[in-house]
Amino acid sequence: MKIQLYNTKTRTKETFEPLDPSHVKMYVCGPTVYDRAHLGNARPVLVFDMLNRLLRHSYPKVTYVRNFTDVDDRINETALNRKQAGAAGTLEELIAERSNETIGWYHADMDALGAMRPDAEPRATGYIAEMIAFIEALIADGHAYAAEGHALFAVESYAEYGKLSGRSVEDMIAGARVEVAPYKRNPMDFVLWKPSDDDLPGWDSPWGRGRPGWHIECSAMAHALLGKSFDIHGGGNDLMFPHHENEIAQSRCAGHDFAQVWMHNEMLQVEGKKMSKSLGNFFTVRDLLEQGVPGEVIRLVMLSTHYRKPMDWTEKKRAEAEKTLRKWYDIAGDVEAGPLDPRFLEAISDDLNTAGALTIMHELAAQNAGPELRTAMQFFGVMSESVPEWVTDAQADLSAFEALLGAARATAMETKDFAEVDRLKSALIAAGVEVRMSKAGVDLVAGPDFDAAKLEGLG
Ligand SMILES: [Zn+2]
Repeated sequence: MKIQLYNTKTRTKETFEPLDPSHVKMYVCGPTVYDRAHLGNARPVLVFDMLNRLLRHSYPKVTYVRNFTDVDDRINETALNRKQAGAAGTLEELIAERSNETIGWYHADMDALGAMRPDAEPRATGYIAEMIAFIEALIADGHAYAAEGHALFAVESYAEYGKLSGRSVEDMIAGARVEVAPYKRNPMDFVLWKPSDDDLPGWDSPWGRGRPGWHIECSAMAHALLGKSFDIHGGGNDLMFPHHENEIAQSRCAGHDFAQVWMHNEMLQVEGKKMSKSLGNFFTVRDLLEQGVPGEVIRLVMLSTHYRKPMDWTEKKRAEAEKTLRKWYDIAGDVEAGPLDPRFLEAISDDLNTAGALTIMHELAAQNAGPELRTAMQFFGVMSESVPEWVTDAQADLSAFEALLGAARATAMETKDFAEVDRLKSALIAAGVEVRMSKAGVDLVAGPDFDAAKLEGLG
């Protein structure tokens, strides 16, 4: 089946033709590891995880690279604060400790969302020599220059600058966070290397002790791990300018063909509003997981909207996704995996139409097609070997209450006193349980608002 992908570079949906069908290569800009990932950070992870799954299904070999940016003022600040508070170790050690801690959180949180780990997760600090060599070559060819301890990219040396984001240089100057500095020949020129103070991490370079700019990190790591040309480059559309524009300028001027297809996901909102600390609607993936929202539910909600549309996280969608998944695990949890529905694959292959794929899964569920549903759920990343514990635990808890309620009813039939039955029933309903009582017995099913905590002490 042909894969269609929307290419930002050409602004059209194209049939994907890998440079080498025996080995597909993809690079996605990863996080700056200074704190817990917020919910918006999870969107590109899940979108490109679906693409990674589709590519792996369709081609014999895929190399998926996603970097960690571990050169950052916010990491340094935390490390410095810890040092001043008396933490043991050098500043460099404390910086590494902070990065390691944050990367550990990132892995735990994204694993919980069912995201497969990329094949390589390079850290910027592991590629400083490659970055220096990259910058030296740009300077040698007249695409960059050194000034006052900095190395800067000369934007005028690349005629196609601004093409990806479709901006003119005038627009970019007017709208952008362009830093005017006396050492810049042109205000649009961007930093490849900058000097470090004594209390900041730094590496020796031909331009003095310093550290790389953010953009050169991705160009150097993509080159080191994927070569001069590769298939797909992805990231959030907030990275299109200046980050991706700068990556392209550097890499093309270094003589690299670089990425063939550029893909960008739209942003995330919460209840129709931009997520921000000032609006009080800012939360991390870990916050949701700790509130008891299962990773599978977060994943299903996040992928229910096409990646090129703004995604709105709402409480209503969360509740619906939980209800859907409980139903699907009930249908597909205990069956052998069946064939992959071609309509499901067709939807995913159509520029990652995850919403369309979900429609097919709903149809399979309605037809009680457990084996086909199970396979689709596996592909979608919401079904692993076994049904998740949040589903099985709830059902295990409930079977004890089924026995309890059944016994209370049997007693009530004799005494004609139904007070205990009513008490148990209302408590179960208050905990979000659907209570089905028939002559055959008592059947309890965890509803979308099921809250196990409310059942504690009942009985
Ligand atoms: Zn990048």
